[in-house]
Amino acid sequence: MAGILIGYERSPMIEILAPTELPRARATGRLVADILQTLRSRSEVGTNLRNIDRWAREMILDAGAVSCYVDYAPSFGRGPFGHYICTSVNDAVLHGRPYDYSLADGDLLTLDLAVSLGGVVADSAISFTVGDVAPSGSVAMIRATERALEAGIAAAGPGARIGDVSHAIGSVLSGAGYPINTEFGGHGVGSTMHQDPHVPNTGRPGRGYRLRPGLLLALEPWVMADTADLVTDRDGWTLRSATGCRTAHSEHTVAITEDGAEILTLPHRT
Ligand code: MG
Ligand code: MG
Repeated sequence: MAGILIGYERSPMIEILAPTELPRARATGRLVADILQTLRSRSEVGTNLRNIDRWAREMILDAGAVSCYVDYAPSFGRGPFGHYICTSVNDAVLHGRPYDYSLADGDLLTLDLAVSLGGVVADSAISFTVGDVAPSGSVAMIRATERALEAGIAAAGPGARIGDVSHAIGSVLSGAGYPINTEFGGHGVGSTMHQDPHVPNTGRPGRGYRLRPGLLLALEPWVMADTADLVTDRDGWTLRSATGCRTAHSEHTVAITEDGAEILTLPHRT
């Protein structure tokens, strides 16, 4: 899930992990990544979003982890989210609530998952196309968010500022021709899902909070093909592109280390 800039819901604090806490963060990150990869492999033509949610619940509980979503009830959503994963299809981009829908060939699906394990949260999102049809525009848009994420991670390290990371992400997205929405973006992560600092998907180099070792950040470039405007679905949660165009979203949780940024949400099996 994306942190929000407007309608403040983040914990107004910045948590710094001690080096001894990093292994716990790595364990959470691997769990999130492994669940996402498993769900990706099961997301075929005909797979129902409700089954993806059920499988996510089973894997989270089997691992002894806690969902960050099921009881999540910020002001921008209607009541508790009530599900274990965000499933956003085609024009849906953020906070997609799983519902009774079976995936079709060529659908663009985004899975976004955050859990807490051992008291540390990790948050990651992947977008991919389902089935044999892979519309070229959708694939290019997904790749743009992945490249923007790589650029943001490369720009993150001790001494860098949030504006450096935001600028790196935004340069890739703008360079690929996508409008950028600044209402939702990346965020600090720690004992809770949404913390300071906010990480907009565009920004000015040299500005903002200076990163230091022990800070966990969820970086999450997302775009809509031809608009920066969102509309809220009737379900009170799912955010869709205002024009009905397709969307894409890539997110990793990283730990700032003495050397740079370590990606925590990489799967250890593929
Ligand atoms: Mg997320
Ligand atoms: Mg997030």
